[in-house]
Amino acid sequence: MNKINSVCPYCGAGCKINLCVENGKIIKAEGANGVTNQGELCLKGLYGWDFLNDNKLLTARLHEPMIRRQKGADFEIVSWDEAIRFTAQKLQEIKAQYGAKAIMCTGSSRGTGNETNFVMQKFARAVLGNNNVDCCARVCHGPSVAGLQETLGNGAMSNSIADIEDSDCLFVFGYNCADSHPIVARRVIKAKQKGAKIVVCDPRKIETAKIADQYLPLKNGTNMALVNAFAYTLIDEELYDKNYVNQYTEGFEEYKKQLENYSPENVQEIVGIPAIEIRKAMRTYANAKTATIMWGMGVTQFGQAVDVVKGLSGLALLTGNLGKPHVGVAPVRGQNNVQGACDMGVLPNMFPGYQSVTDEGIRSKFASEWNIPFEQLDPEVGYRITEVPHLAIEGKVKAYYIMGEDPLQTEADLSLVRKGFEALDFVVVQDIFMTKTAEQADVILPSTSWGEHGGIFTCADRGFQRFEKAIDAKGNVKRDWEIISLLATEMGYPMSYASNEEIWDEVRRLCPLFFGATYKKLEGLAHIQWPCTDIDSEGTPYLYSGNQFNTPSGKGKLFATQWRPPAELPDNDYPMILSTVREVGHYSCRSMTGNCKALASLADEPGYVQMHPTIAKKAGIRDQEIVWVESRRGKVMSRCNINETINEQAIYMTYQWWIGACNELTQDNLDPISKTPETKYCAAKVTKIDDQ
Ligand code: SF4
Repeated sequence: MNKINSVCPYCGAGCKINLCVENGKIIKAEGANGVTNQGELCLKGLYGWDFLNDNKLLTARLHEPMIRRQKGADFEIVSWDEAIRFTAQKLQEIKAQYGAKAIMCTGSSRGTGNETNFVMQKFARAVLGNNNVDCCARVCHGPSVAGLQETLGNGAMSNSIADIEDSDCLFVFGYNCADSHPIVARRVIKAKQKGAKIVVCDPRKIETAKIADQYLPLKNGTNMALVNAFAYTLIDEELYDKNYVNQYTEGFEEYKKQLENYSPENVQEIVGIPAIEIRKAMRTYANAKTATIMWGMGVTQFGQAVDVVKGLSGLALLTGNLGKPHVGVAPVRGQNNVQGACDMGVLPNMFPGYQSVTDEGIRSKFASEWNIPFEQLDPEVGYRITEVPHLAIEGKVKAYYIMGEDPLQTEADLSLVRKGFEALDFVVVQDIFMTKTAEQADVILPSTSWGEHGGIFTCADRGFQRFEKAIDAKGNVKRDWEIISLLATEMGYPMSYASNEEIWDEVRRLCPLFFGATYKKLEGLAHIQWPCTDIDSEGTPYLYSGNQFNTPSGKGKLFATQWRPPAELPDNDYPMILSTVREVGHYSCRSMTGNCKALASLADEPGYVQMHPTIAKKAGIRDQEIVWVESRRGKVMSRCNINETINEQAIYMTYQWWIGACNELTQDNLDPISKTPETKYCAAKVTKIDDQ
């Protein structure tokens, strides 16, 4: 039996895993002693590999290239040569007719790895000639990237997953780690065991709230008001670090002015938390020797998310909880390689290594390395994936090349997304399973899966980690970056790479932040956190050492603004608030975990609507009853899960269920900066089936 060094592909915790292989088949997975997981795995890591061996592989997996010769025709299996020729020709026709900006691409935040994401953004920029490349960070932690880049200078966790357990105070805001990152949740428990104070802000009494020293059940959609009240308290009670603020931050006077009306006494009605509790939480946070703020999508999936991220970083700046061990700001990224996709420039405003596309010097460097004329690199920021439905309906986007994403399952307001797809001339899907989006494609390019190729992922704490190929792929499939290279070559830009390492060396040459993280150094269980700027560096466990921020002035920016209520409030017709949530046994659109026998049997129906018992009783709805859930955009069936841990005003649904997808109901009210949709809040109602 061989043990192959890998990294679990199911969340940003970055757990190192051994895939045990016998006779060309994976027979089990076991936790390896990685930096973030120390030998532990959750159930997805332990059981999330069986689709790689499964006998149903050749029917469930995409295993041959396929094209539709015209709209509405059936898929036809073709050779790779024909699939590449067909795709290249269509993309070239669209570019010639409508211009380069009419084509949109996605990278993937999932199992494909950093090398492929680098090659995909290179394809968009050097071959198509636009910056229209994006990834699902847009619908999750896009606001964390945008907000932290502005206030601190880096759009990432400032600390390390391993360091969380040594903080004296964990301030957990809109982050259900027990379901989204179980191994990070263990760090929270360890911190508690070591004596840390834990404060949880969440409308649901999530698992972490049950072990918290203080639980603040804020009303849905009031994050900005509460964060402002926290900042007000720190200043009002002189709990902030005046020397730190004077020396290392800017904007204090304007910040204070913005907070004027946010005394806890003024906002307690809005947020639903007594002023005394708000003040108590800030005393705990400010008086701890070291404190860390952690957040998840309860912060980022709102129309005012970037402002809230900036506000949270302000609390850390006020109290000096940055730039040293055991403190920091921690947006814990969801998908396993969403940090990596952003690192690799699968963003419409950034080249790899967070280098701006609007900077002439940076464009010149990339043009020279890629051997293309400077003018070929677009100086304008490209489109975001959440804008595509609108742009397609307006006729501005005509072709969509989607790699390892499933927008027809995961994007907000699916009827709008479907209209956008209907307006597109040409859709290419490169994936491992027949997702809802793949079903609508004109071309299917089947690729290898995690387990069938190696590469580098970046986990949520900026840590690069290598994962290796465990078994040979079955079917007529190719590595993602090889497919993109074939297309680029067919379109007149010769591209060929012999190995992951060759691509990674190009990344390192172009990105000062990553230069020191060589393939060799990343062997085995290594975990190297960027910045890693020189060959002797072991990486950076925490950012902003010496309180030097990567902002233009070198200072941290304090930011507060006025709270805006969510876009669609409950009313007589739709009296409940609908919020999307996660299911611990499944991942993302569920295409991978839903095809794992073990995980499917643990949660074979991960679609439910959580209701408070009081509300369910009033409506005469029983636990486990199938009900209608409806919003202004759609209506789906779901099983009712009566749950005492949630608040009475809201209902909660997972987005992973194929039947009755809750994104039929969500809305695409986008944050104005990050363009992230407000999937944590819309008006909805629940009715009994027999009432219809
Ligand atoms: Fe995989 Fe995340 Fe579970 Fe670790 S915590 S085993 S990375 S799903």
